[in-house]
Amino acid sequence: MVSAQLGTTFNPEYLSMSIDHPICEARALDVSFGSPAVEVLRGVDIEVRPGETLAILGPSGCGKSTLLRALCGLLQPSGGEILANGTRLEGVHPGVSIVFQSFALLPWLSVQDNVGLGVNGLDLTDEVARRRITECIELVGLDGFEHAFPKELSGGMKQRVGIARALARSPQLLCMDEPFSALDVFTAETLRSEVYRLCREADEDLDESRAIEGLRSVLIITHIIEEAVFLADRIVVMSARPGEVQCVIDNTVPHPREYHDPAFESMVRRLHTRIVEGEDLDEFDQVVGTADGRLEVLPEVTMSEIIGVVEVLHDHGNSMDLFDLDEETEEELGRLLSLVKAGELLDLVDTDGNRVSVTAAGTSLLGAESSDRKDVLASQLQRLNVMQWVIEQVSQSGEDGADREDLEVALVRRQPHGASTLHSLLAWARFAEVLSWTAEDGTITLGGAVYRG
Ligand code: ADP
Ligand code: MG
Repeated sequence: MVSAQLGTTFNPEYLSMSIDHPICEARALDVSFGSPAVEVLRGVDIEVRPGETLAILGPSGCGKSTLLRALCGLLQPSGGEILANGTRLEGVHPGVSIVFQSFALLPWLSVQDNVGLGVNGLDLTDEVARRRITECIELVGLDGFEHAFPKELSGGMKQRVGIARALARSPQLLCMDEPFSALDVFTAETLRSEVYRLCREADEDLDESRAIEGLRSVLIITHIIEEAVFLADRIVVMSARPGEVQCVIDNTVPHPREYHDPAFESMVRRLHTRIVEGEDLDEFDQVVGTADGRLEVLPEVTMSEIIGVVEVLHDHGNSMDLFDLDEETEEELGRLLSLVKAGELLDLVDTDGNRVSVTAAGTSLLGAESSDRKDVLASQLQRLNVMQWVIEQVSQSGEDGADREDLEVALVRRQPHGASTLHSLLAWARFAEVLSWTAEDGTITLGGAVYRG
């Protein structure tokens, strides 16, 4: 026992690890885009430590890709700083390579040449470069396809090329931005297992793996809880609008990881609860005060999806735990939360902590004949200030209707999410026949179901 402890203490590798700086670090990072500025990330503090696999988990649009770009030095922060191996990063991080969701292969280059892009600009002899390319192609199981072109490859194979190209740089840190989300579930699962092996190898003794020599850490970006729990040592949970770190969780699930392990399932459940707690279901009520009253921020979801959720609730006794509702609808959690928020704004559902219930209006919607459903939806929609505001604008525009772009400009001035809110609102309003418009000329007119007065 004593000797084992001494062994650990005097292991030079251990010592050097403990004094190593994070490979990448964001301190009080702010990122805003455009003018007027839209805040995408606020006060983000994260670090990627040597030897770890870190997951950044958050709903779509919360700023994960933006955070990744900032960490790699691909975009200039609006505030705070980025450190690379302990010093302030100027330009692009030299030790990082990225695997993209969209594969980002050059169609006119063969597999070999695409992977070869990874060693571009490195100070290698031709011989070493060639060997490294071959090793990386073997590592991802593409030997035999060296001379194939991207269009001849399946999605999974394309992503293997993306991974091989990233590894060919011999990065300290391999970053993967939702690398499996463009693949079918089976391919995604296979590739995820292979990346798991890669992360484990990066974690363990470096001697064993030739091609990934030097690889210390992996950063994986995902919106899937299970993926984070499967791959990562630590999980950074982000919340949206603006993107902030909600919490960082040490993933204690033992290796080898199995989805149906009780420890695995309990970690998934724990993350689930944390995400739901952190997501303030009243968040969409926080709107900017205007002379016209408060114009609500609407989530980007469709009316049929909202009705779908009300129907699932109805089929389960009109009230469900958010977690069960998520399982039942098979929606990504972030998306489900948007749907629930939308249902709540329309007063079709009600939330109390994690419980979601159908309201009286929701019940009458489901009970109505399909032709009457539009009337129920129209009257629910007209409870929204933002709907009333749009109707007023359209009414004032005379018989020819209102110009969509003008409306958007006017709404964006009153509310920071004006563009996406208008997008949702117009689609909902057309669904309920409150407004009508033709995409061709972008003119919006009042529909048949508007109740004046
Ligand atoms: P995620 O990767 O979590 O889905 P992103 O980082 O891609 O989110 O985007 C976060 C938000 O920032 C989105 O609302 C997106 O529209 C916005 N955004 C990202 N890049 C830019 C940019 N270059 N200019 C303006 N807005 C941007
Ligand atoms: Mg992204």
